[in-house]
Amino acid sequence: MNTPLEANHRSVRQTLLIDADDTLWENNVYFERAIASFISYLDHRIHTAEEVRGHLNRVEHATIAAQGYGLHSFRKSLITCFEQLTDQPITQEKHDRIVSFAQSIADQEIELLPNVDATLADLATRHRIIMVTKGNTEEQQDKLRRSGLAPHFSAVEVLPEKHTDAYLSLASHHACEAACTWMIGNSPRSDINPALAAGLHAIFIPHDFTWVLEHEVVNQPPPGQTLLELPTFADLTQYF
Ligand SMILES: [Mg+2]
Repeated sequence: MNTPLEANHRSVRQTLLIDADDTLWENNVYFERAIASFISYLDHRIHTAEEVRGHLNRVEHATIAAQGYGLHSFRKSLITCFEQLTDQPITQEKHDRIVSFAQSIADQEIELLPNVDATLADLATRHRIIMVTKGNTEEQQDKLRRSGLAPHFSAVEVLPEKHTDAYLSLASHHACEAACTWMIGNSPRSDINPALAAGLHAIFIPHDFTWVLEHEVVNQPPPGQTLLELPTFADLTQYF
């Protein structure tokens, strides 16, 4: 997938659009833990853990379509999934217990991925850096504040969904020249493919625990655009 760069971009100011969850800090692993607790609490007599997980994925897909991303949607999905897979009405006690699985995510300290702070500090001396994340605005802004990374960014965009049109309007709003604008992130579905379709370059930094709803085959870049896959965030400084 890697296309060799003809020159590195350290000397020419680029615009780097950078994803947050599972690119700058851990995120999905907390959801995986909460879901594991939920499945073992549900302890379904007929459905296997994999079947419960499959059902939860479908419920989440529907909840997100109706309510957007964020913890409130996740909480709702767990409750809906529980109600659909059990015949008994949900008691207050069970409701509270299920809500506590989602709450455990909100209570997490921000865990930055390795060398993220130093890498951003270095990149920000040469380039314009814009955070482009999706989800609930308040939750994402709160994570950014707690991460201590905010001073590295010249702008922050929290989008309801990261699709091609969202990238086109963001690029126009921030006057990004496609030839020197790069989207950097861990999600083929939200970071890489729609950014390539919007005419931008892209850098894919895979994370071992990327959310299953973000999985997609990574597209080949159209002619004239570059797609790189890097093992770690710190590798960005070799190119920028
Ligand atoms: Mg991400």
